[in-house]
Amino acid sequence: MLKFFKKVVFLLLIPSVFYSQTRPLFKAPKDSYLTATDLHIHTVFSDGSVWPDIRLREALREGLDLIAMTDHLEYQPHKEDIPHPDRNRSYQIASELAKGQEKLRVINGAEITREMPIGHLNAVFIKDANKLLRNDPILSINEANAQKAFVFMNHPNWDAHRSDGIARLSSVHEDLIKKKLIHGVEVVNETTFSEEALKIALESNLTIIGNSDIHGLTDWLFEIPEGGHRPITFVISEGGEINQIKEALFQGKTFVWFKDLLIGKEENLLPVIESNLSAENLKYPKGKQIGEFTLTNHSAAILNLIYTGPFSFHEDGKIFQIPPHSKKVLKIKTLSNLDNIDLPFELMNGIVAPNQNLKIKLIVSKN
Ligand SMILES: [Zn+2]
Ligand SMILES: [Zn+2]
Repeated sequence: MLKFFKKVVFLLLIPSVFYSQTRPLFKAPKDSYLTATDLHIHTVFSDGSVWPDIRLREALREGLDLIAMTDHLEYQPHKEDIPHPDRNRSYQIASELAKGQEKLRVINGAEITREMPIGHLNAVFIKDANKLLRNDPILSINEANAQKAFVFMNHPNWDAHRSDGIARLSSVHEDLIKKKLIHGVEVVNETTFSEEALKIALESNLTIIGNSDIHGLTDWLFEIPEGGHRPITFVISEGGEINQIKEALFQGKTFVWFKDLLIGKEENLLPVIESNLSAENLKYPKGKQIGEFTLTNHSAAILNLIYTGPFSFHEDGKIFQIPPHSKKVLKIKTLSNLDNIDLPFELMNGIVAPNQNLKIKLIVSKN
């Protein structure tokens, strides 16, 4: 009866939160599909503070498309109060509650939680978390792979494991990566970003991941009422089927939105920014050589741009911002009237490698 009641209450609450997020966070590049995910989430079924239904409501309010329930396998501080021999419970409860709506998918996962040198790893798209509960962490990772899970290293920069905050691979990680038993790495975890983890991802060809690792409330930790957002991994796939999304994760087709930063491999981030930043309506007032055009940011992220071309602007410097979902008119002094203007920019908050920003070239034309 209680279970039934909970489900009814949840479904009644969905419409209001569902309609609050109708605008996508980013426009998908042509012929591809974007999925906003959080692949690292805790509940009372390990050391989190909330029941799984809160995780669903948070994710719906924040416009996510897919979440993985990844409670710690081995660390169970609430076990005395919430006995549960089945490590799949948070997923089972969350996926049951998610039925009846199509916006948000829930997948099963687990956090393999060990001391260094192996540290913490998440396995998502697992079939049975209980089978991952092994004494030897290598056997846990092997079992996750036998279940065709996507496995990634969590918070390699965590200062409880790395007192200098620098992410490093241990030889056991190197071995697992070589055997293709680890497929990704968190370059963003909770409120931290690791350039060293980004370097590791690029050098070892691991999928770039950024997650909330939420234990309390996302509203509080990420100051969402004040305009903040949780870290989100966007998966770029050919279609919206769950297998296509999973495949894209294995292929490394992601980017991460963290605070004001957009982090990803250039080949993934470039088409996303090209789809979310447009330059239109070039015109010259009669008798003047000062071109006017409009830049539009179609995304939920701020875009911090620096213009790297030969001209200068009439009312702006070369560095400027376009707030989320907004337009900016620029006046460019091109010395003569041009039909098309090349607009080379660097996206200063677009990170494609340590110390390397995304470069993008737009072209604006007369109508
Ligand atoms: Zn952890
Ligand atoms: Zn965690």
